Amino acid sequence: MRTRRLEISCPLCGSAEVSYTCTPNCCFNHVCAGCGTTFEPVTRATGRKVSGIEPPTPLPDPADPTVACARCDSTEVYLTPENTAVCAQCGALLEIELTEIHTA
Ligand SMILES: [Zn+2]
Ligand SMILES: [Zn+2]
Repeated sequence: MRTRRLEISCPLCGSAEVSYTCTPNCCFNHVCAGCGTTFEPVTRATGRKVSGIEPPTPLPDPADPTVACARCDSTEVYLTPENTAVCAQCGALLEIELTEIHTA
């Protein structure tokens, strides 16, 4: 299954201009370019799995939205054609939840 880069919209203004500002071994702080809100996305395994995940081309930039898989901690989480987050390492389908939301 071909996937595309993860997209996360700002929980406050809905902008898709969201960047990842840290590194996976530190935290998952993201910032919205539109309104300056920061948040950390976390994933929850849905219990469903798929196989044959193809990573997107080109691969995401380090500043693109990034989350860790709730099952295997991989940050190779992409979107299926149905807009579901999926881990390319273990194939888990994931739900994304936004935490630590702080408005600027
Ligand atoms: Zn915003
Ligand atoms: Zn995984």
